[in-house]
Amino acid sequence: MKAVKFGGTSMSTVESIRTVKNIIMSEPERRFVVVSAPGKAPGENKMTDMLAEVYKAEPSKRGEVFSLVKARFITLVNGLGLKENLLDDEFAEIEGRLSNASYDYIVSRGEYLCAKMLAEYIGYDFVDAEGMVVFRSGSFYDDECTERRCAEALKKYGRAVVPGFYGSDPNGNIVTFSRGGSDITGAIVARAVGASVYENFTDVDGFMTCDPRTVPHAALLDIVTYDELRELAYMGANVLHPESIFPVRKANIPIHILNTFNLGSIGTKIVPTDDFLAGKYECKRRSPITAIAGKRDFYSLYLDKTMMNTEVGFIRKVLSCFERFGISVEHVPSGIDSMTVVFSAVDDNTANALIDAVKTEVNPDHISLTTDIALIAIVGHGMKSRPGTAARAISRLSTANINLRMIDQGASEINIILGVSNADFERALVALNGEFEV
Ligand code: ASP
Repeated sequence: MKAVKFGGTSMSTVESIRTVKNIIMSEPERRFVVVSAPGKAPGENKMTDMLAEVYKAEPSKRGEVFSLVKARFITLVNGLGLKENLLDDEFAEIEGRLSNASYDYIVSRGEYLCAKMLAEYIGYDFVDAEGMVVFRSGSFYDDECTERRCAEALKKYGRAVVPGFYGSDPNGNIVTFSRGGSDITGAIVARAVGASVYENFTDVDGFMTCDPRTVPHAALLDIVTYDELRELAYMGANVLHPESIFPVRKANIPIHILNTFNLGSIGTKIVPTDDFLAGKYECKRRSPITAIAGKRDFYSLYLDKTMMNTEVGFIRKVLSCFERFGISVEHVPSGIDSMTVVFSAVDDNTANALIDAVKTEVNPDHISLTTDIALIAIVGHGMKSRPGTAARAISRLSTANINLRMIDQGASEINIILGVSNADFERALVALNGEFEV
């Protein structure tokens, strides 16, 4: 049995929704479907962004802005040949709550209405994610409870459509994942119903060896492992929400990225790392590198202090300052008397306050902040236990006259992180891609 998820572009027009129906109907195994809200279409914004505008309006004006959302759904409902008043009760309920509704409630209604509409159109049951996908206080997603509740609820249905992106907390408040979070719901549903595969239909063919906007001859990856995917998705390859891997990883369910608008493409399979390493999947790749991805706009805080290495707790004290400011740390390359902390860009006030806090905490000899760092991840199981990959990367950057500002390799040996100036980012991607011919 398969769980399938359709992204916003797939749900954006009457034609695309017809294609979605054909895809579902072409395989009886496609029994559990998760949907995003309608995405961008000619002359139309993303539904979730339209709903964010509803929230931003003065409470008394929200109804007016919501009428645009309503109009778009009515156009889809009519175009699909469904009863014109199909969503009237839902509209009325939402309108009744608009004036004092939370942001999460309002933006989640795109998925809710879309799932209701699709369920009717394909003749599946609608099963709400509210009460099934569970969040604890502070928007903390509760995976174990969700697994139980979803399995319990979905076993009553042979075929169902579930809205992505949201769930609820124990007080019945709607809570959403971060943007793009319907991918996570798809993974949750796949695990709950014991799917053999989680098919994620989107508007691109899959993961590429490098960003095709920078490296035009980048190729489609046929297979990536869960671990490689985590690194790539985190570093900006944004085909799939980086957290969608966790629910399926627990159950060893592969994810298959497919393109609703190019069904001839083989897509990308994201497979359990152990199965891949045991040779269970055939893979065309020859390079030790699977893919290269990167992101701009990181900061790096450098500090040194003589005899730093003998000062027990030094690194912890520095990191505790980041924790106090709620800044998540990306990398911490360190030397004997120096260390660097790499983190995503923050505003000037926070950066200055952070520097003061670190000075007070550990009294460094020197401290300096660099603000234009881009990070590039070279990812691949093939480089594990194979000497020379980092050396090749460094020497290629030096031949291209690109200054390497940081290098970090974790013990997992499936990725090497290189830091370069923002200005050198694209040239570095092209150079590294040329070196490894990924
Ligand atoms: N509709 C939400 C968004 O635009 C969630 C999703 O599509 O996954 O982010």
